[in-house]
Amino acid sequence: MSDPQGATAVDVLIVGAGFAGIGMGIQLARHGRDSFIIIEQADDVGGTWRDNRYPGVSCDIPSHLYSFSFRPNPEWSRVFAEGREIHAYLRACVREEGLEAHLRLNCALSQAEWNERDARWLVRTTRGDFSAASLVIATGRLSEPKIPPIKNLDGFGGRWWHSARWNAKVSLVGRRIGLVGTGASAIQILPRLAAEASEVVVFQRSAPYVLPRGDREYSREEMERFAADPGTVTALRDELFAEAERSIGARQRRHPDIDLLRQRAVDHLTASVRDPGLRRRLTPDYEIGCKRILFSDDYYAALQLGHVRLESTPLTRIADGSGNAGAEATSGGGNRVAVAASGNSYELDALVLATGFNSTRPSIAGHIRGRESRLLADEWSNGMAAHASTTVHGFPNMYVLDGPNAALGHNSAIYMIETQVGYVLGALDHLAASGADALDVTAEAVRSYMSDIDQMAQDTVWVQGGCTSWYRDERTGRVTLLWPDSAASFGERLATFTPSSYDHLRRRH
Ligand code: NAP
Repeated sequence: MSDPQGATAVDVLIVGAGFAGIGMGIQLARHGRDSFIIIEQADDVGGTWRDNRYPGVSCDIPSHLYSFSFRPNPEWSRVFAEGREIHAYLRACVREEGLEAHLRLNCALSQAEWNERDARWLVRTTRGDFSAASLVIATGRLSEPKIPPIKNLDGFGGRWWHSARWNAKVSLVGRRIGLVGTGASAIQILPRLAAEASEVVVFQRSAPYVLPRGDREYSREEMERFAADPGTVTALRDELFAEAERSIGARQRRHPDIDLLRQRAVDHLTASVRDPGLRRRLTPDYEIGCKRILFSDDYYAALQLGHVRLESTPLTRIADGSGNAGAEATSGGGNRVAVAASGNSYELDALVLATGFNSTRPSIAGHIRGRESRLLADEWSNGMAAHASTTVHGFPNMYVLDGPNAALGHNSAIYMIETQVGYVLGALDHLAASGADALDVTAEAVRSYMSDIDQMAQDTVWVQGGCTSWYRDERTGRVTLLWPDSAASFGERLATFTPSSYDHLRRRH
């Protein structure tokens, strides 16, 4: 790809205007680095909080922790804010931090290629070409809906959609709905779905561990106190962070931490579900924490409503309408019979697939070419890997936020994003001071970091817990998405930028 005439030149090009892209933009602006743009393929900012509009969407990390430390919000209406309030917070961040002038909405990356001669990235988008000294990938890991292999899904005569692409045009009132999945999204959806639908069937492939959530509204007095004394917000945030950090011992399978945590979940199940048969079917067959622990005060209650059924095997197919007429009847011009692995079949008007995201193979990696035109997807063909969870060998001046080994199972993702943003600022400062034009992390630095990750992960519940999860790459079983230790240790590890891990490159003319 030759450098085209007319490419708009910027110092930093950020891809994605979710929490990570917005956080990066705010910090660049606050550090006087004004030459940056944020491209966003959608028509609005907000990332996952723009996309997820399912009934009941909210965050299961307390809002005073799940927000930028440098933009506290005394106005959070409740302990666990709903999705639209978080989305509004992000929009306010963009507006009040002056990011609008840097934003290019409806602007999708087509291809990014490193140009060795100029030591710059050439980024082709649906709204023109850009030339950038540095590229920040902030496209998230929970943005591409995963549709499981349900045979004949396209033959379903009712409507179906993914939880992150909610179809608000379809009324659920009086309808028979199948809810597929029992992850963090599904358990928020079920209570709202059950309030409207005439019948709900929950297809469960694995029973989740559920802990009480303890949500409540903040009183006017509390909000006034937060606003009057910002120190109280910081103190609350620190307390919430410390509380979340205490749960890392259980993930590392320390005793009694893991036993106490498991017991809390078992007690919640016992107190919430009377029928021993149902309780058995709702008891996970893997160790607590292996998959994300869920928080809910109304999931079990919703499951026990008269018109809600738990099908404790996965949805495998939509009946094809031929044969088995009794069990596989059709209605309304298409086949509406959903068949579970157990053989049970259900006639349904709509299917909601709360089946998660393609996290381990981000599609953007197929659009980024580094040195010698190497494709990021090829570099990651055995799973995502990066040094400091942020930089990839052969992709100079490129930083991936919220990508490899930067997710958490026990604390706030925003802390991780802020830590990475700090690391990128350190790299940019070092680059400016060094006189070099580009930094390319060495292959050895990446190898050594990944080997540390493998070692940290090996005795944790994520590897030893007897489950599958999106934290691990399905090709190798390696923990490639999750940081398998405390959040604080991630902060310590990335606190200083280490130039010796990088080759310093110069442009060729
Ligand atoms: P997820 O955790 O990946 O859950 C997908 C669910 O679909 C799993 O229960 C999976 O079962 C199930 N599934 C897949 N195919 C199925 C089939 N054919 N039949 C029945 N079940 C099937 O996805 P998610 O719930 O959307 O959550 C993804 C991530 O988003 C979470 O881990 C979390 O990080 C984030 N999230 C956070 C919040 C929050 O409040 N902070 C809310 C929502 C989402 P298996 O478990 O057997 O694979």
